Amino acid sequence: MNNKGLRRFFVDEIETTDGASSITGSEARHITRVLRMGRGDRLVLMDSKGARFQALIESASPKEVRVVLEKRLPRPPPSSVDITLCQAVLKSRSMDYLIQKTSELGVDLIFPFSSKRTVVRLDEKGSTKKVQRWREIAQAAAKQSDRATPAKIRSITLFEELMATCEGKDVLQVILWEEEGARDLKDMFKASSSIKKFVGVVGPEGGFTQQEISLARDAGFIPVSLGNKILRAETAALTLVAIAQYECGGLSLG
Ligand code: SAH
Repeated sequence: MNNKGLRRFFVDEIETTDGASSITGSEARHITRVLRMGRGDRLVLMDSKGARFQALIESASPKEVRVVLEKRLPRPPPSSVDITLCQAVLKSRSMDYLIQKTSELGVDLIFPFSSKRTVVRLDEKGSTKKVQRWREIAQAAAKQSDRATPAKIRSITLFEELMATCEGKDVLQVILWEEEGARDLKDMFKASSSIKKFVGVVGPEGGFTQQEISLARDAGFIPVSLGNKILRAETAALTLVAIAQYECGGLSLG
């Protein structure tokens, strides 16, 4: 039997003792209460390190589902380019949407930041809660889209701190600026040969200040336009990730 069509479930780390493992928490409740699965049913178990097994349910209760790991499954191939999105923190629903859609499109790492015109003001506690929520959304999106591992989400930093990250080799670094009048993304990819790493920066609802754009330029980020329409930040971010994936072969077969 192949594992296509089996439902996928996610645990932080698959711990096994003599070929058996257990699923607890919300996934156990989902398996038993919502999906009414039980002994004898099969599923795919995956974890945040990319391990993935076909498993057979031995016993199931809303508290714990015990499974036998029948066979290790191949991981989906890693994408050909490493995509990092540096994203100004947006209002809650927009940020949730952005995390989910860029995760489905294969973003590897997200650096949320606050900048001059970031609308959302966050204290320490608020930031930690938000980042935890985003990590759960990334995990759910990885499960649904059958990614090898979820997008990594870093803690919220200041824009200035982020710009201090240095430029590496084979890295294409762009900052999306709606006031850029000379260069667009097509030019960027035409001018860049084999890219191993792509870093895109997207601003908040209020956009970037001139100073922030200059700081980004000094840090090796090239301002590019996505055309004459003003896109919502979440639209700009998922468009950027989709185009970067497409250009670098991440949306191709084989
Ligand atoms: N300043 C804008 C609002 C910012 S849009 C206004 O006048 O309403 C939010 C973010 O999306 C921007 O900071 C930018 O990073 C990105 N963005 C939106 N449209 C864009 C475009 N046409 N070209 C490049 N970036 C764009």
